[in-house]
Amino acid sequence: MRRMRSVKVVATLGPASETYDVIRGLFEAGADVFRLNMSHGSHDEIREKHQTIRDIERDTGRPIGILADLQGPKLRCGVFANEDGEELVEGASFRFDLDEAEGDATRVCLPHKEIFDALEVGSTLLVNDGKIRLKVTECGEDYATCEVIVGGMISNRKGVNVPDVVLPLAALSEKDRADLEFVCELGVDWLALSFVQRPEDVLEARDLAKGRATLISKIEKPAAVKSFDDILEVSDGIMVARGDLGVELPVSQVPPIQKRLVRRCRHVGKPVIVATQMMESMITAPVPTRAEVSDVAAAIYEGADAVMLSAESAAGDYPIEAVQTMNNVAEEVEVDPTFRQIIEASRSASRNSVAEAITVAAREVAETTDIKAICCFTHSGTTAMLAARERPQVPIIGLTPLAKTARRMTLVWGLHSVLTSEVGRFKMAVVSAARAARNYGFAQDDDKVVVTAGVPFNQPGSTNILRVAPVQEKLIFGSEDD
Ligand code: ATP
Ligand code: MG
Ligand code: MG
Repeated sequence: MRRMRSVKVVATLGPASETYDVIRGLFEAGADVFRLNMSHGSHDEIREKHQTIRDIERDTGRPIGILADLQGPKLRCGVFANEDGEELVEGASFRFDLDEAEGDATRVCLPHKEIFDALEVGSTLLVNDGKIRLKVTECGEDYATCEVIVGGMISNRKGVNVPDVVLPLAALSEKDRADLEFVCELGVDWLALSFVQRPEDVLEARDLAKGRATLISKIEKPAAVKSFDDILEVSDGIMVARGDLGVELPVSQVPPIQKRLVRRCRHVGKPVIVATQMMESMITAPVPTRAEVSDVAAAIYEGADAVMLSAESAAGDYPIEAVQTMNNVAEEVEVDPTFRQIIEASRSASRNSVAEAITVAAREVAETTDIKAICCFTHSGTTAMLAARERPQVPIIGLTPLAKTARRMTLVWGLHSVLTSEVGRFKMAVVSAARAARNYGFAQDDDKVVVTAGVPFNQPGSTNILRVAPVQEKLIFGSEDD
């Protein structure tokens, strides 16, 4: 089983996608990584989804990535008596308070005391990625009465932003710490940190994760945009979290920021996800708008590693169709000759090591001659990610004996992860690379592949060898002497 595209698809799981059949349907339609949002759902629900994904991995024999997204210091309202929520109508009055009772059309709990200390008459509150706008008309130490300026549906645990007020919130709440420990014990491949503002926020999470997960910083605060390079340096990947970013900053600034962040990540070779509202209308419709299709395509033309679905796959009426549509857009974009030109023109990797020089050479050899795939042996995934940074025209097969590396690589542009047994000699590496290329339909007999690896195998160190190898029955079953 292989994908016919290089960009990856991340699908958020939620009430619309919790059964084995739907999640398997999402995987088959093209989801490479599943996102579990810790803001919604109990630990038991998260554990069940996690187990279902691992079951699908076992049944399909393909590594699948799991990304757990920590809520971070995000303000959210409480829950409503009516589980569909309530409609706020322009001009109406609506109250936020500290009363934990279920909300109704006149009020809801906003369980953050700090907000009420900071709000003033005239302050603006934004709900659900800025879709609803309210203005404070009266406030006290445990409530704020607001006038609805722009109406819409408010429902359980929607995010609330107060753009003109600076709130003294820690990067990781008690809940985040408990969630982090829970998902690290459960075993997730990527951990996304919400509302990162400083590199120290990432380092704090890294201390707690103790190597059990790699860290994605979600860029959704003006402060994070300002110190982006420093945050990137201490992160393993980036998410351009456009929902809150477009609330915290004028929405017109989001596209240039997205472009710049994707470029920076490509330059250093760390995966970058473009997220939020990519196919938003597919929450309730089986086809997206043309503008949404263009938005997904634009992220792919920029060379992003992954595009993401949020509510479309978590809570929408057409989760599988949303993944299918993204997959189809990606396949169309990637066969467009303009896509190749843009990718080539925006390649800017720095080359300072033997491993980097070898991955550049692997691409050049592959593109100059008729090579079907670049096969990289990797322990940590670093070498395969370097190969992906080159954005080669031929597929990259990342071979690793470590399940956690195979799963992490599922997020990275162009990497087809393959779990192999530990190889002791380069000859065996060539054999298993050729076998993987053949088994997954990348190459046939008499085709050639490029193989890169670090030898000797049983010593830590990075890639130092490149071989062009034929894919042959004879070689696959081993009779070469070296
Ligand atoms: P974030 O800021 O982390 O993206 P979010 O609230 O925007 O948080 P998403 O994961 O982007 O959450 O999903 C978008 C919407 O889909 C949510 O606001 C919620 O209404 C719904 N949703 C997602 N996951 C769940 C879930 N597990 N249970 C209930 N609703 C969910
Ligand atoms: Mg967000
Ligand atoms: Mg969201």
